[in-house]
Amino acid sequence: NEEREENLRSPICCIMGHVDTGKTKLLDCIRGTHVQEGEAGGITQQIGATYFPAENILERTKELKADAKLKVPGLLVIDTPGHESFTNLRSRGSNLCDIAILVVDIMHGLEPQTIESLNLLRRRNTEFIVALNKVDRLFGWKKCKNAPIRKAMKQQSVDVVNEFNRRVTEVITQFKEQGLNTELYYKNREMGETFSIVPTSAISGEGIPDLLLLLVKWAEKSMVEKLTYVDKVQCTVLEVKVIEGHGTTIDVVLVNGVLHEGDQIVVCGTQEPIVTSIRSLLTPQPLKEIRVKGTYMHHKEVKAAQCIKITAQGLEHAVAGTALHVIGPGEDVEEAKKTAMEDMKSVMSRIDKSGEGVYVQASTLGSLEALLEFLKSPDVQIPVRGIGIGPVHKKDIMKAGAMLEKRKEYATVLAFDVKVTTEARELADKMGVKIFCADIIYHLFDQFKVYIKGIKE
Ligand code: GDP
Ligand code: MG
Repeated sequence: NEEREENLRSPICCIMGHVDTGKTKLLDCIRGTHVQEGEAGGITQQIGATYFPAENILERTKELKADAKLKVPGLLVIDTPGHESFTNLRSRGSNLCDIAILVVDIMHGLEPQTIESLNLLRRRNTEFIVALNKVDRLFGWKKCKNAPIRKAMKQQSVDVVNEFNRRVTEVITQFKEQGLNTELYYKNREMGETFSIVPTSAISGEGIPDLLLLLVKWAEKSMVEKLTYVDKVQCTVLEVKVIEGHGTTIDVVLVNGVLHEGDQIVVCGTQEPIVTSIRSLLTPQPLKEIRVKGTYMHHKEVKAAQCIKITAQGLEHAVAGTALHVIGPGEDVEEAKKTAMEDMKSVMSRIDKSGEGVYVQASTLGSLEALLEFLKSPDVQIPVRGIGIGPVHKKDIMKAGAMLEKRKEYATVLAFDVKVTTEARELADKMGVKIFCADIIYHLFDQFKVYIKGIKE
């Protein structure tokens, strides 16, 4: 597009926060309004992500009297809410998520997973905006469908405004306790130092225009370098999924470059690198047809930034959260294989050399990394002897069981966001191996702490 002086790609946005704060609903709401206007507007629901073209963002935010031009072609919002997609969106240690939305329920304030998300974002140095959701639940709220938040506030009674102000102040104080300065976005004069809060309702849409515009404008302003499109493929595996009729597929986020049908690719596998070629590049049908089950659109090539489903042979053991490499003409496959396994290696290197420690199992490489990082931190310090990705199987219990004679308290599996097979559980009971399961890292630690204390007494 000639109007765009800089060649920027779409920013990639993740959505995080405590369970039930409205992450999914917020995405539905952003999408939903577009569906109505969208038939002509060309919204495409991508795999695991929703792509909003700039024109739609402008249409959606016109009440805010925004400039008539956006510099980015659109916004790619990753639909898989939660830690997982965030921790997976990385490539050799660097973060691919450009900006995040941290959702907080205005009626509840900060909750445990809010703080966990916050810490993840800070550790990765990721910019984020707080969506203070569910404003429509303030007692006496008058709905103003899809209105900018300040316009909606003008319609409210004094009581509602007072309660709103009280709750906002409370949340700002809670963030302060976490060492973070926050402020309502329209009062925030020092974005970057102070994080912005956008009050929203995912039910009636108030504040959604503000959120969209702020996301895009902030990304354009502060991330020009990061968002400048480059040809070299930068791509990361978000999820590994079995799809009827397609076998094991990978959903990838293409951050830079172009992928083509037939490209030779190298992906990190649990045991060894996977070398294969792209059979097809798929995206779902446009929104109006999405309910037609199992039909995908095929593409000869796809340009960044996009989210794509790739089908290819031999993807069964692909590891989510690792980089996908394309072998260009004249490029060395062996070199790419080595690079592909580096992510896995760096995680392996964190295992305790003494051979004593617990067994840790997580859903993806990204979440495993986050867990290992946590277990290593000074006030936790739980040694790790072995790691695994995916569901807990009998073999994992066997490995953990090796500690039974040496250090009984370490004959333990810490399972983060994964299932435990029935056989594994039975074997663990029989052998006396403890399994702790949780979706929140801190909960694993708490359970383990109580257990250790019990043993010591
Ligand atoms: P998630 O776990 O963060 O994805 O939360 P969901 O999107 O599943 O929402 C949890 C519950 O809160 C659902 O019952 C939603 O209908 C409700 N909810 C979400 N956003 C809002 C909101 O803005 N206002 C109100 N009143 N309810 C909401
Ligand atoms: Mg949800």
